Amino acid sequence: MFRELIGGLRITMQAMLRKPLTIQYPEEQRPVPPRARGRHILHRYDNGLEKCIGCELCSGACPVGCIYVLPAANDPAHPVSPGERFAERYEINLMRCIYCGYCAEACPTEAITLGPRLDLADYKRERLVATKADLLEAWPGFRPPGGAAGGGPR
Ligand code: SF4
Ligand code: SF4
Repeated sequence: MFRELIGGLRITMQAMLRKPLTIQYPEEQRPVPPRARGRHILHRYDNGLEKCIGCELCSGACPVGCIYVLPAANDPAHPVSPGERFAERYEINLMRCIYCGYCAEACPTEAITLGPRLDLADYKRERLVATKADLLEAWPGFRPPGGAAGGGPR
């Protein structure tokens, strides 16, 4: 009995002196592997124009049908993208996405990639349908209040 007690205390003391494995998430986060496939990012060119031309190829390539693209014609005086069309609406249902990356492979303009953001849990389903505003990169040089230049999708 006494030996077991000492054995148990020894294990407890060893665990107390060991460096903790846990981290204070979400303030602390582990580095994401460079090839991780997290939430998508819609990219811009350096001049701020959106790379997406609303062609819907990503939507057609998606094996689970979770991308919705509503294309619209560009106004030549104020183009949103360099193409004839741009994506007026762009949505991805993140609950259905399997993070296969086919959308990025299908995109002719490299407008969409899978980014490093993996913490996608939420309490509300509707917030797990990512909109264009959620996914689109900030303007080059954009500096959010108190943030670094470049900004980025939420
Ligand atoms: S990663 Fe795959 S499942 Fe997710 S939106 Fe892209 S094509 Fe669809
Ligand atoms: S993200 Fe790429 S494939 Fe999808 S609509 Fe835009 S340009 Fe086309």
